[in-house]
Amino acid sequence: MGLSKLVNVNGGLTAPNCWASRRLYNTFEVLKNNDQAIMQQKINILIVTAIATLLALVSIQTYLIYNTYELKRDAFLNETRTAIGRIDDETEAIVEIDDLWDQRFMQLLWEYRFKNLSKETLLNELKKQTDSLNDTYNKLYAEELKKTNLGFDIKFKKNIHTVILFDTIRHDTVFPFKGHDRILKFGEDFQESEGYNVSKALWQSDYIQQENGEEKALEFLVRTEDRMNISEWKRIVLGRMSALLAGSILLLIFVVGLFYYSIKNLIKQKKVADVKTDFINNITHELKTPLATLSIASKSLKKKEILASPIAFESTLGILDRQNDRLQKLIDQVMTNSLGSEDLVLHKEQVVDHIYLKHLIDDFTLSVQSKDLTIERAIETAEVMLRIDTFMFTTALFNILENAVKYGKEKVMVTISTRLKNNHYEIIIADNGIGIAPKDLDTVFDKFYRISSGNVHNVKGLGLGLYYTKQVVDAHQGTIEIESELGQGSTFIITIPVN
Ligand code: ATP
Ligand code: MG
Repeated sequence: MGLSKLVNVNGGLTAPNCWASRRLYNTFEVLKNNDQAIMQQKINILIVTAIATLLALVSIQTYLIYNTYELKRDAFLNETRTAIGRIDDETEAIVEIDDLWDQRFMQLLWEYRFKNLSKETLLNELKKQTDSLNDTYNKLYAEELKKTNLGFDIKFKKNIHTVILFDTIRHDTVFPFKGHDRILKFGEDFQESEGYNVSKALWQSDYIQQENGEEKALEFLVRTEDRMNISEWKRIVLGRMSALLAGSILLLIFVVGLFYYSIKNLIKQKKVADVKTDFINNITHELKTPLATLSIASKSLKKKEILASPIAFESTLGILDRQNDRLQKLIDQVMTNSLGSEDLVLHKEQVVDHIYLKHLIDDFTLSVQSKDLTIERAIETAEVMLRIDTFMFTTALFNILENAVKYGKEKVMVTISTRLKNNHYEIIIADNGIGIAPKDLDTVFDKFYRISSGNVHNVKGLGLGLYYTKQVVDAHQGTIEIESELGQGSTFIITIPVN
């Protein structure tokens, strides 16, 4: 509540002290701004460190998870390899079919070597052999696979990579040759790139067959590979890691939350500290002037010329009185504002809206002398009965009107209008002042909050006026809102319920 206008001190008495207090105030401001800058820098460093730590944590976590993923995948593939490797080695029926294929294979190789069978025919014959046995093989394999209870689908195949014939003169690479790089022996023919190796083998063998009573021996080398394809392996491996993944994500969310909460709290505390420093500055500033005036006035009372003139004596006493009053009011103001809306004890009385507002506006207009003030009224004369604590409500509205003058231009123009809307009574006070930036719209109602226009306030105040107004409106179960834009004036809308 701007109380400065309650006292009009003789300029000659206070000027030097005002300069002194202004200098002190400015020193305060510089120190405060330095402090605030250091604090802000500390918060910035903390935010950067927190983000860097988080990034490091996420990187390490990702690396560890990826490593675990690879280990789990290898373990999974190994388990599966062992399980299906046994089927191939230990199932009698499968071993028999395998032998049958091998016999035919060696026979055809022998024919290739000694009977001029072409490579194409050899491969075609092998393909026919596979086609005729593969269904049985696959069926047997599927049955055996079922018995292992692996719980997921597997495709399996046996390939031949290389076939080399040994000859006394030169070695003959029968396979691979142009285009064909694998011979499918058994199983389902999926893409090479989609599968995983189960086992590789290299075997060298002899095959002897009689022809016209003569034994003809064949020596050869075969490289084989068994491969498997598990379409769902990623889902299975990730499923096995689900607890770890969920734990990591939860932990990360927790750490981010913790950082966020700590930094938010720190910023909040910084704001509270700033507001408190501002308040101490403001109250020091407000107390300085009356104290300095009191000191000069009491000293001048001792002067002979003042004692000799009853008029001068009377006027100095008046100054003492007014300054004393001002100090008392300042202290009262701080005391009153330590109460929240729930602590305010209202003494409500019934008033007729337009009469109450007329008196209020007249009183206010009378009290303003410093500026050219015009108040335009658009008050409905519908005779609405309001139940309010007139003393507090008047102070609350005065605070808004004082602000309109304090933060207004040389020619202050205020419009007060009222409206009755669904059992709610609205009082709308619009000014043509400097306006309030959107970011400050919520905070102007906070205790001790003042918008820092530049470094030093040129308008005095404690930042308590709107806080008090809001407490009073809240105590009346009402609401208060501001619509404003910088440079465009401000509009305060107070809504209170009516019966
Ligand atoms: P006090 O009212 O305690 O003497 P104050 O006027 O600074 O001090 P409030 O009335 O609570 O405190 O206002 C808070 C801040 O909101 C002010 O410092 C001012 O910056 C801004 N403000 C309030 N009313 C207006 C307005 N009508 N136009 C522009 N700014 C305003
Ligand atoms: Mg104010």
